[in-house]
Amino acid sequence: MRVLIVGGGIVGLSTAWALVRAGHEPLLLEQGPLPHEGAASYDQHRLIRLPYAEELGYCAMVVDALKAWERLWDDLGETHYAEVGSLALSTAENDWADRSRLTLDRLGLDYQTLDAKDLEARCPFLQLPPGAWGLFNETGGLLFAARIVEALVRYLRHRGVTLREDCRVVSVDPAAGSLALEDGGRESAEAIIVTAGAWTAKLFPELARRAVPHRQVLAYMEAPEAHAEAWAAAPALVDLASDLGLYAAPPVGGTELKFAAEAHRRPGDPDKLDPLSDSEAVELAARFRPLLRDFDDYKVLRGQVCPYALAPDNRFVTERNGNVTVIGGCSGHMFKFGALLGEGLAMTATGERSYEDFRLWAEGRRESLPET
Ligand SMILES: Cc1cc2nc3c(=O)[nH]c(=O)nc-3n(C[C@H](O)[C@H](O)[C@H](O)COP(=O)(O)OP(=O)(O)OC[C@H]3O[C@@H](n4cnc5c(N)ncnc54)[C@H](O)[C@@H]3O)c2cc1C
Repeated sequence: MRVLIVGGGIVGLSTAWALVRAGHEPLLLEQGPLPHEGAASYDQHRLIRLPYAEELGYCAMVVDALKAWERLWDDLGETHYAEVGSLALSTAENDWADRSRLTLDRLGLDYQTLDAKDLEARCPFLQLPPGAWGLFNETGGLLFAARIVEALVRYLRHRGVTLREDCRVVSVDPAAGSLALEDGGRESAEAIIVTAGAWTAKLFPELARRAVPHRQVLAYMEAPEAHAEAWAAAPALVDLASDLGLYAAPPVGGTELKFAAEAHRRPGDPDKLDPLSDSEAVELAARFRPLLRDFDDYKVLRGQVCPYALAPDNRFVTERNGNVTVIGGCSGHMFKFGALLGEGLAMTATGERSYEDFRLWAEGRRESLPET
């Protein structure tokens, strides 16, 4: 079956992978180059973690997502994942880490709770808030995002899949099952899948309130010599008991230490994102001051601006109209599900899975562990 895919980020590329391995004929259209460094999927790392606060559905989906990545590594013949585990800090009953713990309990998933002494042993660079305990999961860690995207592009080309670069889709016509290109061309197919990330609402203005494009800032850092070894052995820090949504990726597998804060984002047109100001990365890094020993010895290497589309309820936004399936929305946490969503989208577009089932699952509403 011939299937058109709009957008070559992790979700579009993974969908092409899933389609081609199932014997279908995907054609991927990307407005930029491939890989597209201006897309949300292109960065050194993205975190994959089991703790998901009260979101039982997404927590369960992570178990499946890890298996989907394994299937991708098998096909690529290379692994782009470091299972360093994840750590969240809790300082109050019912905070993010505490709610995550309850969800892990409900699903029967393993974790360890770390007291101050355990935390000191595992992350000696942390300066703990009073009363803090840690929620540690051995499963989870870092996906090397840019390497995955690059490997997928190579794999798909090798498999003979057409990946058309600099090819902007300007409209999609579900009634006709076709789409129009900026260069005046048209394409049609039995199914169309739109994975346009932060650009989704440009093609579907009716989704503008459900998939709001944002500008997110992050900072690449150098740890002081005294803490470098500990950081290199650290888990992914997924929540640091802060209402700023602080998280950090340790420098493993040839990558750099990265700090991010959910608070450092604002709405923005993905085609016209304000460039990084001189102070932004420094201000973001400073959010970590209360949590890190010797903070003044950390060096900000550089900041980075990335686009993504946020949904008000943090759930993925899906739409189906005729033979067109769209996924976008809460792209603040979609990378970890890339391979899994690709498989789900491929099956939905080709009729092997009902759209309604896909929608509920992608919205994180299936609240049980996948069958093994
Ligand atoms: C700073 C930051 C940190 C993050 N951390 C995590 C994390 O730790 N864990 C996690 O799971 N997720 C994380 N995410 C989210 C994750 O990166 C995104 O959800 C994911 O990469 C989205 O993938 P995508 O394929 O939907 O979109 P994108 O990667 O943005 O790809 C969309 C592609 O579609 C193309 N396109 C758009 N419109 C058109 C058109 N009209 N015609 C042709 N092509 C088009 C674009 O050019 C782009 O290449 C983070 C995101 C950011 C920005």
